[in-house]
Amino acid sequence: MALLKLYNTETKKKEEVQQKKNPILLYTCGPTVYDFAHIGNFRTYVFEDFLKRTLLFLGYKVRHVMNITDLDDKTIRGANQKKISLQEYTEPFTKAFFEDLSLMRILLADAYPYATDYIGEIIAIIQDLLKKANAYIGNDGSVYFSLRSFPTYGRLSHLKLQELKEGASQRVCVDEYDKESASDFVLWKSYDEKRDGPIYWESPFGKGRPGWHMECSAMALKLLGNTIDIHCGGVDNIFPHHENEIAQSESYTREPFVRIWAHSAHLLVEQKKMSKSLGNFYTVRDLTKKGYGGREIRFLLMQVHYRMQLNFTLLGLDAARASLQRMKDFILRLRTEKKEGVFGKIKECLQEAERGFTTAVADDLNISSALSFLFDLIREVNTLFDQEQIGKKESQEILKFLERIDQVLGFLPLQEEVEAVPEEVQKAFEKRNQARAEKNWKDADFFRKLIQEKGYLVEDTPQGAVLKKREVE
Ligand SMILES: [Zn+2]
Repeated sequence: MALLKLYNTETKKKEEVQQKKNPILLYTCGPTVYDFAHIGNFRTYVFEDFLKRTLLFLGYKVRHVMNITDLDDKTIRGANQKKISLQEYTEPFTKAFFEDLSLMRILLADAYPYATDYIGEIIAIIQDLLKKANAYIGNDGSVYFSLRSFPTYGRLSHLKLQELKEGASQRVCVDEYDKESASDFVLWKSYDEKRDGPIYWESPFGKGRPGWHMECSAMALKLLGNTIDIHCGGVDNIFPHHENEIAQSESYTREPFVRIWAHSAHLLVEQKKMSKSLGNFYTVRDLTKKGYGGREIRFLLMQVHYRMQLNFTLLGLDAARASLQRMKDFILRLRTEKKEGVFGKIKECLQEAERGFTTAVADDLNISSALSFLFDLIREVNTLFDQEQIGKKESQEILKFLERIDQVLGFLPLQEEVEAVPEEVQKAFEKRNQARAEKNWKDADFFRKLIQEKGYLVEDTPQGAVLKKREVE
């Protein structure tokens, strides 16, 4: 069985994920449920799903944890503005997130811990860090991590230590900041009535609440153990979030926190950074309202290698839709093929395609190479169809292959039609074709109308008639 090679942000090299008896421990930073997740977030979640599906496809076992950030500067601000509890505020966005996951055909994680359920664990880690002098209490009463106490700080984002030492006299109390302000970061924020309103927890270091970075460390260590095999996120997470996670976690456990760090690149919309003010900001819901489906969005987000910038456009989404429609037609042709074929050549084609596909995804999720094996196969099969070499048995083998690779891709339009084409429609379709062959136009027309009434269409192509489901929109 092929081993997965995955690019490690920390070592800047592709590394083999070692096959073990135990599951691969996978931690992916989850959504901050202060709003609906946008397609930039979903590029990352789809990449993580692709990674997990590839691991499973290659025979690894996986234990996957994704946190739900229901406690940070943004959720608190939102709840206090609306004068409702944190839970009341975050609940609808959490529910929406799970609906979107399902729409995007993302496999569920083994656990979705909520930050607010881990305050006890967080406090215990901070107490330990204070004891070891990795942390100190600042003038404002908040607890900060001391960068000076962790000499390898910056090794993930490849920051120069010299630059850091100069900047490290500063302290930062907000959750998000850029590299220019690399400095002692907050582990526990002391209560500020104006900012926090009624939202706070009691702790040995006073009333307050955890910093965002600390939350992920606590949940990962608790649910996966001291050393995680693969930790993922978007490139935005590398600094400061993941850098800080390493510092806190390793100071606490004195063990390596993560073996491989994997990050997906940015998403642009129409070549620009996505922003509400530019009007190019999309959530998954915005796109479904425009009539696009989860498969189409997923296909578009997966098409570009995860470490390359992806330019998202509605035209691209239309192209993804057209491409999936062609696959749908192809699959339908395979499903409806009845005649006898000439088995032999197709077996070779399938073996070659599967070998190529597997090697491609195992090489740092090389999607373009993997898809080229799929598209080459479709082209070859269509040629063989024209030469009448593909029959029912061959079609079934091809379908089985498509089902296997869809365990990784998750967007092939395989299921709907089989389940959806009711027997009466299939029968009417056959009767209509027979009537047409007998030049019995009246009956042919009768059955065509019957098929239409049931929500299907008949299309005559050079290869013969095909049955299609009518688009709902
Ligand atoms: Zn995180």
